[in-house]
Amino acid sequence: MVTIKKDLRSGQSVWMAYSRPKIPHENLKSDMRTDVLVIGAGITGALMAEELTDAGFSVIILDRRVPLTGSTLATTALLQSEIDEPLTKLSRQIGFDKAARAWRRSKLGLDSLAEKTQLLGISYDLRPELSLYTAGNVLDPDALKKEQDALRQIGFTSDFLDHKQLTKRYSINARVALLSSGNYSANPYKLAHGYLKISKERGTKIFAPEEISDIESSARRVYAHTKSGFCASARYVVFTTGYEVPEQLKKQNYKIFSTWAMATKKDVADDIPMLWEASDPYLYIRRAKDGRIICGGEDEEFSNEKKRDAMTSKKVKALQRKMKKLLPIIDNTPEYGWCGSFGVTPTGLPLIGPVPGLKNCFAVLAFGGNGIVNGRIGADIIRNYLTGKDDPDADIYNFKLPS
Ligand SMILES: Cc1cc2nc3c(=O)[nH]c(=O)nc-3n(C[C@H](O)[C@H](O)[C@H](O)COP(=O)(O)OP(=O)(O)OC[C@H]3O[C@@H](n4cnc5c(N)ncnc54)[C@H](O)[C@@H]3O)c2cc1C
Repeated sequence: MVTIKKDLRSGQSVWMAYSRPKIPHENLKSDMRTDVLVIGAGITGALMAEELTDAGFSVIILDRRVPLTGSTLATTALLQSEIDEPLTKLSRQIGFDKAARAWRRSKLGLDSLAEKTQLLGISYDLRPELSLYTAGNVLDPDALKKEQDALRQIGFTSDFLDHKQLTKRYSINARVALLSSGNYSANPYKLAHGYLKISKERGTKIFAPEEISDIESSARRVYAHTKSGFCASARYVVFTTGYEVPEQLKKQNYKIFSTWAMATKKDVADDIPMLWEASDPYLYIRRAKDGRIICGGEDEEFSNEKKRDAMTSKKVKALQRKMKKLLPIIDNTPEYGWCGSFGVTPTGLPLIGPVPGLKNCFAVLAFGGNGIVNGRIGADIIRNYLTGKDDPDADIYNFKLPS
């Protein structure tokens, strides 16, 4: 078994409210040969396939599900450069220089995602956003001020807003917050669909539902065997399998949590900034294009899917309550409520690089609250590995060798 199948999400995700153009796919009818086999047709696999076809590789994608029906359909799609772990805290974990590089690389990842998406004409609902980072139990107002100073040192600017300013400008009931610009929100299905479509136009074939059940790797080629009895042979394999982590990576430093989200009816809010709390568990809020408010958080440190699903209605009520406190004038009646698994690392950074012990195999575990941007960073780094170029930040994300 290469990855164990999970129940990645349940409930009604807000993206089910919008049209979801199909991405053509087929079943395997024979063995296949390609330069790169990408395992997983979610947003990470979509970004990867586009990047690698752009670099001139032939690519095939295999997925055990219908494309874009894994975690990608559960995301709330705040596209932000901020890493889950504040710079001041990340510096204590991995040192200031490395933490500064990680923060800058995240910003670069976000900017390149936005620019590339626009250049490729995939403009579906991608919107620039103002963002508020509010004080909470992880960073109190003083610590938030220190975070602002640390961020300024590495080139990130923000305004420090007090309670009065937050209420007056945005009707947001929070103590203090950092206001910044440069983040985005998107419809994740359409975003990922756009990238898959472009890869297909460049010759990528998508095979689904097809499950990879065994991998044999050698110095020259990798042979991926499917449950349906076929073999895809490739120079390289890239795992973009989301929270269904390859067995070879099970001992890496990450955990799978449970998380919840809700969305209100349409037209309840005019423009409000994206918001997330420096709290544990945190709360985050964004507006969808049609004026719904999407709100998520309430993370719990367990991955049991039955337990997770059973808590959805209670958790949606908790999100509703917290949202009311922050945005008192907005109708917080939920129209959509859903939950999902969610990958977390102690640093908030994704894990990207060669898979230890499997020659010519790479993986992008785009974990953390900005998993989509982390997928973009992953696509850039893997392109560099496969084209023999040095990536100055690859060391930040590498998998640890087994001890
Ligand atoms: C409620 C929620 C809110 C979130 N909010 C945000 C947010 O605001 N911003 C953000 O950036 N991120 C957010 N995330 C994280 C984001 O959803 C993930 O980073 C992203 O969806 C991961 O995409 P992926 O392509 O890696 O995984 P997936 O979409 O799950 O795709 C992986 C695919 O791999 C396939 N696969 C696995 N194993 C095999 C195998 N052996 N053979 C064949 N196929 C296989 C699966 O079937 C699946 O389709 C959120 C997540 C959740 C759950």
